[in-house]
Amino acid sequence: MQEKELVIIGGGPAGYTAGLYAARADINAILFERGMPGGQAATTEWLENYPGFPGGIGGIDLAMKMDEQARSFGLEVVTADVEKLERAGEVFIVHTTQGPMQTKAVILATGASPQVLGVKGESKFHGRGVSYCATCDGAFFRDKTVAVVGGGDAAVEEALFLTKFAAKVYLIHRRGELRATKLIQKRAMDNPKIEFLWHSVVEEIVGDQKVEAVKVKQVPSGELQTVAVDGVFIYVGTRANSGLVKDLVQTDERGYIITDEQMATSIPGLFIAGDVRRKPLRQVVTAVADGAIAAMEVEKYLALRE
Ligand SMILES: Cc1cc2nc3c(=O)[nH]c(=O)nc-3n(C[C@H](O)[C@H](O)[C@H](O)COP(=O)(O)OP(=O)(O)OC[C@H]3O[C@@H](n4cnc5c(N)ncnc54)[C@H](O)[C@@H]3O)c2cc1C
Repeated sequence: MQEKELVIIGGGPAGYTAGLYAARADINAILFERGMPGGQAATTEWLENYPGFPGGIGGIDLAMKMDEQARSFGLEVVTADVEKLERAGEVFIVHTTQGPMQTKAVILATGASPQVLGVKGESKFHGRGVSYCATCDGAFFRDKTVAVVGGGDAAVEEALFLTKFAAKVYLIHRRGELRATKLIQKRAMDNPKIEFLWHSVVEEIVGDQKVEAVKVKQVPSGELQTVAVDGVFIYVGTRANSGLVKDLVQTDERGYIITDEQMATSIPGLFIAGDVRRKPLRQVVTAVADGAIAAMEVEKYLALRE
């Protein structure tokens, strides 16, 4: 079996930064990513709050730059899904779709995935009008009508992005005010293509072969209305991708992994970085900080073992 000093699971901002710091510290590391580099950041059309890029930077562009920078210092990046993580005495065995790998330390940076609404029609029409990624699918809705569900930064930012293509964007939110940052809220309120459906929850997504409408319930009145749309973009939060270690470490009630400030867990050699961790702010800037700390802690951990 191949052996490494460090396996990084997940190629989002946290994983790539851990890889960059590990490679520069001369740690023999490998990063496994099951999809596109960049994680959620790569599904974001435009980031305006990552320092160093006045005017902002495209999510895919930022992801590609992170990949290039980490590789330039020698980080090995492999496309594979990590299916199982095992503690075997003092080492870990990482089972991937490319085979197993033995390692002294692991940084889990598997991030988070979109939360589903859990309504009728959502899974049936996923990929046929239901989407969790405006950057990926927005262009399919040129001159069409779409609904965005949610009221946080991600929902409102992506609703604004969709106005570039769609003729009309309904923003469906269960409360009477948004949670999004004030600046983003103002942009949405000022955009004539966006219509807000306040105090509203989606009851069902309906259609024949593809999405044709959403059934929306007013709260608390219970009044139902059917709104004709061609697409539904869902941004109602995220869930932690912590399944690989759920039996090894402590998580909070929502599945986010509890670490200390060194990104360490109760398992020696297992470190956690980024959105999969319990933390007060899930953004690129905090994910990269976690990744850097985790890699530096791995360096200390490996030095102590020698
Ligand atoms: C729509 C949207 C808009 C956003 N806008 C902003 C913004 O403007 N500014 C900002 O700072 N942040 C923004 N964020 C948040 C930001 O994208 C995240 O905080 C950040 O990407 C977290 O990085 P991460 O590396 O922890 O996890 P992720 O980005 O989630 O990356 C985790 C990676 O791990 C991989 N992975 C998971 N499990 C496995 C496995 N078993 N095997 C192999 N690979 C695996 C995934 O494929 C993924 O690529 C936004 C997020 C969304 C969804």
